[in-house]
Parts: sequence; structure tokens; C-alpha cells
Amino acid sequence: MDNCIFCKIVNKEIPADFVLESEELVAFDDIHPKTPIHILVVTKAHVASIKELENPELAGEMVMAAKGIAHEKNLDGYKLLFNVGREGGQEIDHLHLHLMGGK
Ligand code: 5GP
Ligand code: ZN
Repeated sequence: MDNCIFCKIVNKEIPADFVLESEELVAFDDIHPKTPIHILVVTKAHVASIKELENPELAGEMVMAAKGIAHEKNLDGYKLLFNVGREGGQEIDHLHLHLMGGK
């Protein structure tokens, strides 16, 4: 999708610090971390938000990817967050899951 910043990151048109890439997903550090570890798990496909998501497997993959990254980062506890829509605090209209944790 044109002019979508996360599509551009997925396509490596703008840089990001990647921690994971799979067939369906990428994950990279949030540019403005709100916790010591703040990673975004992002679908390669442009889906605007959870509201538009039709494939439940993709949501499951996102959660399992975040769990795997948390394990690699030795996070004992963490938060997983989907902001959905403007009223839900979503600023970037490309589906992403926040993994937040660390001391
Ligand atoms: P949202 O509010 O849409 O759930 O979260 C968007 C997140 O993307 C924010 O935490 C913000 O810091 C992050 N972000 C925005 N632009 C960029 C960018 O260009 N690169 C990276 N790595 N993160 C970004
Ligand atoms: Zn996009």
C-alpha cells in the first residue's frame, strides 16, 4: 500500500532494527520505545487493523511470534497490545502487535 510506513519497512524501503522475519510477519524495535523492550510484530500483508483482519491464524501467529521473541529476550513477564482504531490509540493503520516489557 502506497504511503504506509509499515509497508515501507516490510519492503525494506526504510530501515528498522529487525528481530524476526517469517513468511507472514516481521518484527522490529519501536522507534519510540515506551518500555526497555518495545517490539512491534507486523504483518507483511497490509491489513489496516484488527477490525479488518479476517484470518484468525494470522492473529495467532502474531501472538506466538511475540511470545517467542519475549522468550529470546529472557522476558519473564510482558504486555501484548493491539491498539485498534483512532479511539483505541492506533496511529499507524497497518496491523501490529506491541510487545512491551523489561526493567
Ligand atoms: P500504534 O499507536 O499505531 O499502535 O503504534 C504505532 C507505533 O509505531 C508507535 O509506538 C510508534 O512509536 C511506532 N512507529 C511509528 N513510526 C515508526 C517508524 O518509522 N519506525 C519504527 N520502528 N516505529 C515506528
Ligand atoms: Zn501497510
